[in-house]
Amino acid sequence: MAIRIGIPRALAYYSFYPQWKTFFEELGAEVILSPLTNKHIVNEGIRDTVTDACIPIKVYHGHVASLAGKVDYIFVPRIVGLDHDATLCPKFLGLPDMIKSSVKGIPPLLTPRFDVRDGRFAPAKAWMKVAEVLGAGYRHALLAYRKSVKVKQYYEELLTSRMLPEEAVSLLDKLAASVKGEKKTPSDVKSSIASAKSSSARSSELQNSNICLAVVGYPYMIYDEFINCGLLDTLKRLGVSILTPEMVPAKARQAQAKKQPKYLFWYYSNQVIRSVYYFFQENMVDGVIHLTAFACGPDAMVDKLLELDCQKHGRIPYLSLCLDEHTGRAGILTRLEAFTDMLVRKRGVRQ
Ligand code: SF4
Repeated sequence: MAIRIGIPRALAYYSFYPQWKTFFEELGAEVILSPLTNKHIVNEGIRDTVTDACIPIKVYHGHVASLAGKVDYIFVPRIVGLDHDATLCPKFLGLPDMIKSSVKGIPPLLTPRFDVRDGRFAPAKAWMKVAEVLGAGYRHALLAYRKSVKVKQYYEELLTSRMLPEEAVSLLDKLAASVKGEKKTPSDVKSSIASAKSSSARSSELQNSNICLAVVGYPYMIYDEFINCGLLDTLKRLGVSILTPEMVPAKARQAQAKKQPKYLFWYYSNQVIRSVYYFFQENMVDGVIHLTAFACGPDAMVDKLLELDCQKHGRIPYLSLCLDEHTGRAGILTRLEAFTDMLVRKRGVRQ
């Protein structure tokens, strides 16, 4: 029977899931993803986590608990550095330790340490260690790693074509299944990705005739519809099109780094600031919504910086929404309606 690897659907899942899944499946393992965040998962997370943790960390604990008894290993990477400018926030760095000491009755964890500052080959080496634990040979693991890097690249291309992560994941799953069933070759996959990208970009262009908002924050806040009380769906119903940091190509984001008077210490925070600079430069948005997590240290700074930047760039309307486990749908809906009404009046657009 194949080894079953559990992946919690939270935190870095939104940035890396297709890569992780590809790597494990190429080694013959079965990947089991925790369910979409729900009330039960949040409650389990609150029970297991220290009280002053942010909501994404609480939710992560709940996702880990939901995998107990269903898998042989749970994948809880220690992600330290994804570029040379910053590290991830301390809670990411201590994640495996927090999980080990807080969540009871779980199987062994796979906790590779990823830090690109350790050298060009550091990520590959970390993956090789994971493969060793799973009993895979070096050559096999290397091929799996290379394929996983390719899939990550496809995933990022789909996101920059303005697809949401769940849509991109499901498209990649379908393509992977058709390659296995020999209905498609790798070059068919490339052309399917290209056509999915252009149709996604076309449909966003059509939507962009109305109000367009930058919805910024960390991917695990923007795309977890339970944490943010269905924010993206609500905006869609209000006829608003959205742009998120993941929709800006990595190179374009990096090019904005020079505008930062000083880099922040945290990777995701820099990505948020740089993507907003990009939206301003390209004159793409009518307003900015920032999703912050209650008790998030980095966000205390990011939120103020964004507010000041919006003022500096011609008083771009700015809405900050602070989320925790007590946030209610009605409150979010009211604020989004008021914000979009104000933008419609400001622009003189009837939707
Ligand atoms: S950056 Fe903030 S929201 Fe994200 S894990 Fe760290 S403290 Fe939580």
